[in-house]
Amino acid sequence: MPTDPTPTPDRPDTPHGLPSDALPRPADAPAGLARRIEQHLLHTMAVAPQAAGPVELLGAVSQAARSELSRRWVQADAADRAAQARRVVYLSMEFLIGRSLGNALGALDLSAEAAASVATHARTLEEIEDQERDAALGNGGLGRLAACFLDSMATLGLPSYGYGIRYEFGMFAQSIQGGRQVEHPDPWLEDGTPWEFPRPGVVHPVRFGGWVEHPESPDVPPVWRHAGTVQAKAYDMVVPGHGTERVSTLRLWKAVAPAHIDLHAFNSGDYARAAEFKNAFENISWVLYPNDSTPAGRELRLKQEYFFTSASIQDVLARHLAEHGRLTNLADKVAIHLNDTHPAIGVAELLRLLVDEHGFAWTPAWRITQRVFSYTNHTLMPEALETWPVSLFQQVLPRHLEIIFRINHELMVEAQAARPGDLDFMRRLSLIDENGERRVRMAHLAVAGSHQVNGVSALHSQLLVQTIFADFAALWPDRFSNVTNGVTPRRWLAQANAPLAGLIDRRIGPGWRRDLDQLVHLKPLADDAAFRSEFLAAKQANKQRLARVIAETTGIAVDAASLFDVQVKRFHEYKRQLLNVLHVVTRYRAILAQPNGPDGQGWQPRTVIFAGKAASGYAMAKQIIRLIHDVGRVINHDPRIGDRLKLVFIPNYGVSLAEAIMPGADLSEQISTAGTEASGTGNMKLALNGALTIGTDDGANIEIRQAVGDDNIFIFGRRASEVTAIRAAGYQPMRLYESLPQLKAVLDAIASGAFSPDEPGRYRGLVDALLWGGDHYLLLADYEDYVATQLKVDARYRDREAWARQAIANVAAMGVFSADRAIGEYARRIWQVAPQA
Ligand SMILES: *Cc1c(COP(=O)(O)O)cnc(C)c1O
Repeated sequence: MPTDPTPTPDRPDTPHGLPSDALPRPADAPAGLARRIEQHLLHTMAVAPQAAGPVELLGAVSQAARSELSRRWVQADAADRAAQARRVVYLSMEFLIGRSLGNALGALDLSAEAAASVATHARTLEEIEDQERDAALGNGGLGRLAACFLDSMATLGLPSYGYGIRYEFGMFAQSIQGGRQVEHPDPWLEDGTPWEFPRPGVVHPVRFGGWVEHPESPDVPPVWRHAGTVQAKAYDMVVPGHGTERVSTLRLWKAVAPAHIDLHAFNSGDYARAAEFKNAFENISWVLYPNDSTPAGRELRLKQEYFFTSASIQDVLARHLAEHGRLTNLADKVAIHLNDTHPAIGVAELLRLLVDEHGFAWTPAWRITQRVFSYTNHTLMPEALETWPVSLFQQVLPRHLEIIFRINHELMVEAQAARPGDLDFMRRLSLIDENGERRVRMAHLAVAGSHQVNGVSALHSQLLVQTIFADFAALWPDRFSNVTNGVTPRRWLAQANAPLAGLIDRRIGPGWRRDLDQLVHLKPLADDAAFRSEFLAAKQANKQRLARVIAETTGIAVDAASLFDVQVKRFHEYKRQLLNVLHVVTRYRAILAQPNGPDGQGWQPRTVIFAGKAASGYAMAKQIIRLIHDVGRVINHDPRIGDRLKLVFIPNYGVSLAEAIMPGADLSEQISTAGTEASGTGNMKLALNGALTIGTDDGANIEIRQAVGDDNIFIFGRRASEVTAIRAAGYQPMRLYESLPQLKAVLDAIASGAFSPDEPGRYRGLVDALLWGGDHYLLLADYEDYVATQLKVDARYRDREAWARQAIANVAAMGVFSADRAIGEYARRIWQVAPQA
């Protein structure tokens, strides 16, 4: 392992009897790649090269890249085994990968050759790459973070594995019909993918249900009499490193019914019943739950979590035993990371495997477990924290429930010793929430079972130990730390933004791809008029490209000379897209009231761009999407407005669309209620592409502000501490409505049907939730400052040279937000895993 199961017709033996790649690359290398592509067209795609269309070319170019990556993969794997390297294992329910070809070609430094090769077929590489479907095995930020992190692990040369689920259906595709979101299934594997490598030899059984038998003798471990087994089958994806031959592995598990299942029904010809049984097992890896920041709370979800976690840990133990022959040194050789609580059941699973199946006593097994695991928390919002009813656990994972109770018993003993008689302290720490229906608190399990716990921005990590984990922090202060998130500059600058990447290369060289701190050398160039002009030209080219995407997907023509004001992310009330809409309606009314501008100098033309999906069951979020379309229809067709304001919604936000949007943004909207956005990573991608941020003092916005300087960012609104104080004092949104005439007029217009004349009451509920429902996310409290700050943005943008200076200052300061910096911190401080050459 890994072995390439496909033949490699692209590497025929040479006349010398050596594989061709054992020889130095010939001087006419492009012809070499071109030849491999032609051979793949013929032998892999079975199409005459001269008849190949874009889809066939995509297949052939991908195969050519895949073959080279396979070679690197086998080498990296052999090197790690020979070195008996310590590895990191990253467990994540989601990997939001996007497309692979452009990234692979970039990593192999073959982009130019590939472009030349497809040019001989009268195609552009962009056109070919656009044929690839996104691998959308994630909802949003959390899944994309996991994908960026794998890219960095490979690039830094960390011996590493990502583990997740091979969902048959990824994140739903979004279309808009009559202004409303419609969801469509995402059968991304329908036509096969060249990027996965089935590993038919790698299979682990995962068991569910039943009961536990306790033998008389305390020396004999309990026996889990499970009620059913599914097989987890491995499918690997290779994760290329950039500027290195190192690669990493993403191993995804597919659930398969055991072959013996209901053979009787099958043999007796009752295929319908046989199929039913099969589905009952295989539905575990069928579909990604399309919830972001909200636990699904379904039995199937718990099964998904256990399924992939158990398979992954069994795989880790099997690999360790093959390399070391014993498990006592497991913690010396592997670090397992929990990306949020979704794989937190792994704590109980490792204990179960060590104690029940490998003969460990509890205490050494617990010591190993705590040394092996570390955990990243991604949210503070109480409603977003995962808990499971004890009764459901009993039914699905009875042995694990026992183990959780034992961990909890020891935790309670420790709590009692730390604060004798403080029953509230114990109740708050407990792994079991005893208020109402008893529930298992997965975050508490993750904290108890890990040696390190981190938040994802400075503010978030600070709030973690002050709020939801305050009691744990009192008990174990050294367990908590911060690792601010980051994004990979390969995908989010080099690949997504060729005009800017090329300009940067010409001025400071290409080294920033692997060392993003080098962007600091752009800082003095903000004073170089020629550089500013080239920078603005690159931005303009990206805006024109984005304007084409907008025209193609929405039919709306936007002016690429206007300010592109962008809010792209999942739709959630805490992210406050509705606050953005309130500003748009405010501006619309202001343009009508003062056609010559607030100061008589005219209005800075603006295009407000939204994209993002709402969870299918999240009515309020979907209603906000509808409102954007209703407001857009009115504004975009109002002849009095002309080009001064446009509002567009680009459907089906995902990684590939993000790659088209980020480079074309002037203004990045990061306007969550302070204290709610753990970090954000969209904020980093946009600033890296030269957008200025308008944002609250929240998540990583705070660190972006520190990096770029107060003058190069627009911060507004209440801080996290003020939000807490306002809520504690009894927030009264109605007072704001009554005291701010502009706000009142905007809310009245929306509530009375000014944008929904066909159904005047359509948005009454939305407005009532603000006025009467408590406005939980404090939109009205931040409204006035937000609108005033938007006017400052206009003024700043009018001086295009000043704006360019500030945008350049943003790009130059983004070094710290590289995922390489984040992974470097994890590797040194949390995982103690070292790069391999
Ligand atoms: C970066 C990214 C996100 C996260 O965006 P936030 O603004 O941080 O919420 C979500 N979805 C996609 C496709 C992304 O690329």
